[in-house]
Amino acid sequence: MPGLMTLDELRNAVGDGSIDTVLACIVDMQGRLMGKRFHAVNFIEHSFEETHCCNYLLATDLEMANPDGYKATSWAAGYGDYIMKPDLETIRPVPWLEGTAMVLCDVIDHHTHAPVPHSPRAMLQKQVTRLAEMGLEAKMATELEFFLFEKGYDDIRRGGYQDLAPISGYNEDYSMLQTTKEEAIMRPLRNHLFGAGIPVENTKGEAECGQEELNIRYGAALDCADHHTIAKHATKEIAWQHGHAASFMAKWSGSHVGSATHVHQSLWRGDAPVFHDASRDHGMSELMGHYMAGLIKYAPEITYFLAPNINSYKRFSKGTFAPTKTVWSIDNRTAGFRLVGEDTKAVRVECRIGGADLNPYLAQSAMLAAGIKGMQDKLPLPKPTMGDIYQNEGAQDIPTTLREATETLRGSDMLREAMGDDVVTHYTRAAEWEQEQYDIAVTDWEIARGFEKS
Ligand code: ADP
Repeated sequence: MPGLMTLDELRNAVGDGSIDTVLACIVDMQGRLMGKRFHAVNFIEHSFEETHCCNYLLATDLEMANPDGYKATSWAAGYGDYIMKPDLETIRPVPWLEGTAMVLCDVIDHHTHAPVPHSPRAMLQKQVTRLAEMGLEAKMATELEFFLFEKGYDDIRRGGYQDLAPISGYNEDYSMLQTTKEEAIMRPLRNHLFGAGIPVENTKGEAECGQEELNIRYGAALDCADHHTIAKHATKEIAWQHGHAASFMAKWSGSHVGSATHVHQSLWRGDAPVFHDASRDHGMSELMGHYMAGLIKYAPEITYFLAPNINSYKRFSKGTFAPTKTVWSIDNRTAGFRLVGEDTKAVRVECRIGGADLNPYLAQSAMLAAGIKGMQDKLPLPKPTMGDIYQNEGAQDIPTTLREATETLRGSDMLREAMGDDVVTHYTRAAEWEQEQYDIAVTDWEIARGFEKS
């Protein structure tokens, strides 16, 4: 498979003129790539060692506002620098941009030279290390759902986000006909990602007008999150290159289903899939039972990391394939957690709670923290739930608002122990800020409802 480059290979490509630009990127709290575009000569001679960014990048909201209330970053502390340390294992070509390569950077404290604990890559690395100390490795896959729109981002923005016509006029779930019409975007997306070392499995039409899904082969947790982040970025850029827009909002319209990020998870010891035990029910090992019990028990506490925006909570509605309950089921798409690959070596759990707007590093680290706690405490797995789980009154609900998810996050001893107090407090502040901004907004819905009639 083509893809990742060593620093020497990058040097050769710069030497023969095929690469002239290197993107050095960190991942922000929202899971976006932020960084600088280097002249490739500067990068290979100097900046491959380190570069710098303002430390507000790990404290902004989607609009780049810099809220108060963060211990790590503030006016009082002068908004200093972080070190962006290129992870040289992640150098790759960016085939959809001419002459360009990319590297992901870890975020390092300027003074202590330690990883910044609330940086998304460091948060995931921490949980991966905790697993490694138990002799385990997580393999994950995220499914990316998104909508494609007829118009491009700039036209849509200039029109006040009113003209949101999806690229197709009918539900295109598994449709080979409609998805052919979207190949101008989807074919380069698959091929360019593949060329960037991201093992694309397939794309498919999803169950709405203009909705697509991109699947990438499972891999180590950090690779999975890196792949997801680059793939999401590429989807937006390639859609833009073709005069269209792609949106990963969890729910862009009250009358259309939302977009999810389902996360498949399994644990391995070396080459052995330790979730599999042929002698037990469904081929699930006892360890898998404890891991899933952790996910289920702590689902309310980790929901913020699966649904980080006000809008994320609009997705959780009955009868839409988005779950509302923290139960597990066997191959049943109405549950928060679904057992997949029953009775095979690929037996795994799929978390269906997360929206397309989640940050995969945060989501995966929170799920691993919950699963690790389940294994440490040998939590018993409740019985699977059958039938239409939307109608199951007894089952525990997923927090239905950001306000509720913020409070369960704030009060989570499990996450504070696993991630560190400061990290949980940092993200609790991010959640509060999102709520505060929403609380002072007057929406189109309120105007239309009350302007004349109230
Ligand atoms: P479907 O047939 O529903 O598309 P797949 O079998 O293709 O389901 O799997 C969905 C996702 O699960 C894929 O991205 C795949 O890479 C991933 N996957 C497969 N096996 C495992 C595993 N053992 N651990 C984690 N993810 C896995």
